[in-house]
Amino acid sequence: MRYVSTRGEAPVLNFEQAMLSGLARDGGLYLPETVPVMEDIAALEGLPYEEVAYRVIRPYTGDCFTEDELRGAIARAYARINHAARAPLKQLAPGHHLLELFHGPTLAFKDFAMQLIAQLFEIALKRSGQRITIVGATSGDTGSAAIEAFKGIDNVDVFIMFPHGRVSEVQRRQMTTPDAANVHALAVAGHFDDCQARLKDLFNDHDFRDEVGLAGVNSINWARVVAQIVYYFTAAVSLGAPHRELDFTVPTGNFGDILAGSFARAMGLPIRRLIVATNQNDILHRALSSGEYRVGTVEPSISPSMDIQVSSNFERALYLAYGKDAGAIRQIMEELKAGGFTISQGALQALREFYVSGRVSEDETLAMIRTIREETGEILCPHSAIGAAVARQNIEPGVPMVTLATAHPAKFPDAVERAVGVRPDLPPHMADLFDLPETVTRVENDVEALKSLILERRTN
Ligand SMILES: *Cc1c(COP(=O)(O)O)cnc(C)c1O
Repeated sequence: MRYVSTRGEAPVLNFEQAMLSGLARDGGLYLPETVPVMEDIAALEGLPYEEVAYRVIRPYTGDCFTEDELRGAIARAYARINHAARAPLKQLAPGHHLLELFHGPTLAFKDFAMQLIAQLFEIALKRSGQRITIVGATSGDTGSAAIEAFKGIDNVDVFIMFPHGRVSEVQRRQMTTPDAANVHALAVAGHFDDCQARLKDLFNDHDFRDEVGLAGVNSINWARVVAQIVYYFTAAVSLGAPHRELDFTVPTGNFGDILAGSFARAMGLPIRRLIVATNQNDILHRALSSGEYRVGTVEPSISPSMDIQVSSNFERALYLAYGKDAGAIRQIMEELKAGGFTISQGALQALREFYVSGRVSEDETLAMIRTIREETGEILCPHSAIGAAVARQNIEPGVPMVTLATAHPAKFPDAVERAVGVRPDLPPHMADLFDLPETVTRVENDVEALKSLILERRTN
């Protein structure tokens, strides 16, 4: 399998190279040149999650990993999800199902991808003898998932910058309590935007970049998207695919999770519609409704993992909607630097063939947490509640609707308490989170300070 950049000017790579490099050199995102077709979807019914994962992921990895390597990586990754089904489905109402993706070690769906790529990185680096330094910036969930997944992995150091005092206590503790010499939580004196700007500074210093073998694992890494295709298959076959069509609603920020759904669809899964659910930061909803992709300012919300202005993986959906015209993508991405662009009529029509969208306000989010609790006894996290609210506006009789539940409610206790008056308990496997000692390094919002810290602390 060969991987090409959405901007058409970067070298063609194999899976392992695309995984280790993250972003393409021309600023674009890597995509597989062709989409593999899943032959016998009906045969997936009732198989263990790991077996479905192997069958879905295998064609994307080409000959980069042996069967044993890939199966071993999948087994180790998903043994850490605390549910026998890994991604269980729960019924909310007639025709409406919740896909619970929060049983992993950091209680958000990002564990599904991060756990797997940590295992794949370890295999690839062991083979090449290469050592790398992963640096990331997080507003919460990505950083904790990366630290949990990469702790103790050979040949890798992980440094995660988070804005000091601006992540929830659960999120912070998930980053500061893992006990391993190769993971480092950095509390930066600044906002999330400062963390992201310093990250760019580090990557733009090519000498430093080469010296420490800088790598990224943010949501534009293709290997993360691939891992997320799997649960669309397990959910759909449980509900009657391939003999029955269904719809998915996905709480969306950077467009990684929902993009994975579009690949499941392209592989032959009968997904009728993929419904984008946004909070008040609704650039994707506006883009799909009006064709205008215009950057606004981020309004902090009670669903912080979806508080974005620019949705990075949307570039991949645009590339496909523009008929793989890399020149057109280069042009609109240039316009984006000046604030935004208008999606061409043809591309907008292609997107609307199966993408639908909706936006949910803060009050509606709180109201939906209350409603679902009253109707079912279940407590949803605010992101999942946004999904459920948009799903309910779009349910059609006879077509099962699946809403992706992207985080555990205990990760966002303040919002849940505001909605229903109770603070959800942490699941038993992490009940000791508030007793464990924290290790965190305070650092100035300054690239030179960060560089010295990384050089001093890395174990490789
Ligand atoms: C990251 C995240 C999202 C958004 O996912 P994207 O792939 O960026 O669209 C939604 N909900 C939660 C809880 C998240 O952590």
